[in-house]
Amino acid sequence: MTEVRTLKVALLGCGNVGAQVARILIDDAEALAARTGAQLLLSGIAVRNIDSPRDVELPRELFTTDAETLVKDADLVIELMGGIEPARSLIVTAIQNGAGVVTGNKALLAQDGPRLYEEADKAGVQLSYEAAVAGAIPIIRPIRDSLSGDRITRVLGIVNGTTNYILDQMDSTGAQFADALAEAQRLGYAEADPTADIEGHDAAAKAAILASLAFHTRFALENVYCEGITKVSAADIAAAKDAGFVIKLLAIAEKVQNSVHGNGGEGISVRVHPTLLPREHPLAAVRGAFNAVFVEAENAGELMFYGQGAGGTPTASAVLGDLVSAARRLVLGGPARTETTTGHVPALPIAASSTSYYIGLDVADQPGVLAKIAHIFAEHGVSIEIMRQTIHRDAESQAESAELRIITHRASEAALAATVEAVKGLEIINSVTSVLRVEGV
Ligand code: NAP
Repeated sequence: MTEVRTLKVALLGCGNVGAQVARILIDDAEALAARTGAQLLLSGIAVRNIDSPRDVELPRELFTTDAETLVKDADLVIELMGGIEPARSLIVTAIQNGAGVVTGNKALLAQDGPRLYEEADKAGVQLSYEAAVAGAIPIIRPIRDSLSGDRITRVLGIVNGTTNYILDQMDSTGAQFADALAEAQRLGYAEADPTADIEGHDAAAKAAILASLAFHTRFALENVYCEGITKVSAADIAAAKDAGFVIKLLAIAEKVQNSVHGNGGEGISVRVHPTLLPREHPLAAVRGAFNAVFVEAENAGELMFYGQGAGGTPTASAVLGDLVSAARRLVLGGPARTETTTGHVPALPIAASSTSYYIGLDVADQPGVLAKIAHIFAEHGVSIEIMRQTIHRDAESQAESAELRIITHRASEAALAATVEAVKGLEIINSVTSVLRVEGV
C-alpha cells in the first residue's frame, strides 16, 4: 500500500468564514483526502484572541496567536483574517516558503494583488482567491480557466449583497434609502459602518479583480471609477420602475474604443455605479442579498453565474474548492496555475465610456419647456429615447412644477456631462434631480 502524504494546512482567522472552513476540514477530512490524494491536516488556527467565542466548537490546542510560526511550518496557508496587515506579510512569508496560498481578502488583492501575484509567480506557488469575489459563486476559475479560450467582451456583476438587498427593498416596498439601510442593518445584511458597501468600495475591489482576469491585464483599485448608492432616491426607483427598469449597483468591466487616449485602439472601462437595467434582463431577477455575474464572450455568448455572495458557510465552500485544487497540485506536481497578463490593454477613465442615461429634472411648468430641453440635447448630439412629464401642485401655494424623466440613447459620458451642464443653465430648470446610467438596452 502506498503511503498517503499529509499536507499541513495553516488557517489564519477563525471568524465568519474561517470557523466554517475549520469545521469542514475536520468533519470532511476523509472525503477531502479522497479528492486530494493527501491528508489535509489542520495544523493550527491563528487568531487575535484565543478566548473569543467561536461559531464552531474546535479543539483549543489548535489555536495560536503566533501566525508567523504557524505559516512557516505549513504546506498550505488559508488567509481569512481580512485587512491589509498582517495578512499581506503573512501571505508573502507563505509564498516565499513555497506554500500554496488561499485567500478571500478582496481588499488586499485590489490594493496589492499585482505584487502578490508576481511574488507567487516568482516562487512558482499557487495563489488562489475564488472566495474574494461573490462568495460561494464559482466565477474566478470560470473566467480564468473555462473561458481562457474565448474573448470576454463584458462583465456585469452584482457583487455586493448589502447594496442589492437595499435597492431590492427600495424597489419592492417604495422605501427611502435611509430606511432600507436601517432595515439591512437590523437584519445583519449591513454592518454598523456600511461605508465600504454603500459607497461601492467593496464592489470596486471585486471589479478590479474581475477586470484583471477577464482582460488578461492587471488592473488596480485606482483604475476603477466608483459611485455608490447613497444618492439613489425612492423617486428614482419609482420612475425607473414606471419605465420598466430596476436599479442595481453594477460592477462593470468592458472593452471600449479608446477615444480619450491619443491614437485610439481598445481599452477597458472598469466602473461601479448604480445602473438602470430593463426588468427582463437576467440580472434584474437577482433579489435580496444574492449576487450574480453576467459574462459576455465572443464565442460563448451570454453566461450568468448566480448564488450566495457572502456568509460563512457559502464562502467556505469556495475556499475549500481552492484548497483542494492547490493541494492536488502539491501532490501531482506541475507548475502553479496563474492568470495570464498578456493583454496589455489600458484602463480608460469613465469619460471614455458610453451608455444610455436616465436624467431626472425638476422644471417650471411653462409652455415650450420640453422643446427647449429637447433642443439642448440635440445640440450636444444626445438623442432622447423616452421623455415623461409629471405635474406636481404645491398644496399650500398651489404653484405647479413639473418633473421630467428622460432616457437617452447611447451617448458618450463627455457629451452627456456637457448636456447636463447646459440644461442646468436654463432658467426653466429648478434642479437636475438625478443622472444615472442605463445598461442592457
Ligand atoms: P471576521 O469574522 O472578522 O474574522 C476575522 C478573523 O481573523 C478572526 O478570527 C480574527 O481573530 C482574525 N484576525 C484578525 N486580525 C488578526 C490578526 N492581526 N492576527 C491574528 N488573527 C487575526 O472575518 P470574515 O467575515 O470571516 O472574513 C474573512 C475574510 O474573508 C475577509 O478578507 C473577508 O473580506 C473575506 N470574505 C468574507 C465573506 C463573508 O461572508 N464574511 C465573504 C467573502 C470574503 P479573533 O477572532 O481573535 O478576533
